[in-house]
Amino acid sequence: MEIKAAVIYEQSAPFSIEELEMCDPNDDEVVVRIVAVGICHTDLAARDMHLPIPPPPSVFGHEGAGVVEKVGSRVRKVEPGDHVALAWDYCGACPSCKSGRELYCLNFFLHNFNGARPDGTTTLRKDDQVIHGSFFCQSSFATFALANERNVVKVRDDVPLEILGPMGCGVMTGAGAVMNSLRAQPGSSIAIFGVGTVGMSAVLAAVVCGCTTIIAVDVTPDRLEKAKQFGATHTINASEVDPVEAILDITGGGPEFSLECVGNPAVFRQAVDILPRLGVCGLLGVVPPGTEVSLNMDLIMNGRTVRGILGGDAIADLFIPKLIELYSQGRFPFDRLITFYPFEEINKAVEDMEKGRVIKPVLRV
Ligand SMILES: [Zn+2]
Ligand SMILES: [Zn+2]
Repeated sequence: MEIKAAVIYEQSAPFSIEELEMCDPNDDEVVVRIVAVGICHTDLAARDMHLPIPPPPSVFGHEGAGVVEKVGSRVRKVEPGDHVALAWDYCGACPSCKSGRELYCLNFFLHNFNGARPDGTTTLRKDDQVIHGSFFCQSSFATFALANERNVVKVRDDVPLEILGPMGCGVMTGAGAVMNSLRAQPGSSIAIFGVGTVGMSAVLAAVVCGCTTIIAVDVTPDRLEKAKQFGATHTINASEVDPVEAILDITGGGPEFSLECVGNPAVFRQAVDILPRLGVCGLLGVVPPGTEVSLNMDLIMNGRTVRGILGGDAIADLFIPKLIELYSQGRFPFDRLITFYPFEEINKAVEDMEKGRVIKPVLRV
């Protein structure tokens, strides 16, 4: 079928909206008419070839939401007309997947970064030229996306679909880290370093969990102000004060939990250094492969935990509907992170995001 998609033709080049041909769904695949799609830093990392992906031309986009248009013959989860949010793909057969931790799929790259289906077949072309697709098994910077039954999440249809794309990545990651990974208890304390989409979703989740000390750390005054509106009890501008000292002071010895949502070794070190005994630091920020950090081994030895967290340890099919329920009750207003753009203005949206003018740009397709 004919689709329109935002194509990257060269590393770090602007997006170019093109008419492409997308192939028919296989037995286990789903064609989704994209209503809106969020832009995430991982899309830009892919544009810049900082991920192990095939060279351009490529279509990225992995926070798609839309309506099921067509399903393969073996698909049972959804049917045409269903509203869906798209999430990450996984193999379903490896030890991680079999133990219910699909986000840690051992075949993650093959299912998300192959530029093609896992079997190597490609799904997009322009005339005779193959265009790499299947990014996070969706490539949803497009009017239509080809997903697998595995990574479509059926959502209720009485909630605006155009806000739901970021659920499948940034929002799930931040909220899930607090709710699923840290399992923050009512009355507990948490420091969140970096309040972009992921960190801000973590702030909202900390409120839902009943944390009574929620410290947001960032270098952008606007974001700190928004974090306060979202329920942060304290904000720290790390460009003005030493966050370690300030947090130890506020908490009287350190918060039970910290989250690193920046992807910076110096910030990670701060997020660990503030922990009291038995404190847990979750690492969410994405860094280039091979990035190293130095930590105080003696501190960690004394009962502290440092762990990497992918996708908020969520099972998307179960977790996203829960977040949507919280949203619809007014208890998880993540939509206030979103700035909408028409699809044609994708390059403007990217620029605004890179300059820090917006938190979560979402393209209306
Ligand atoms: Zn993402
Ligand atoms: Zn797997």
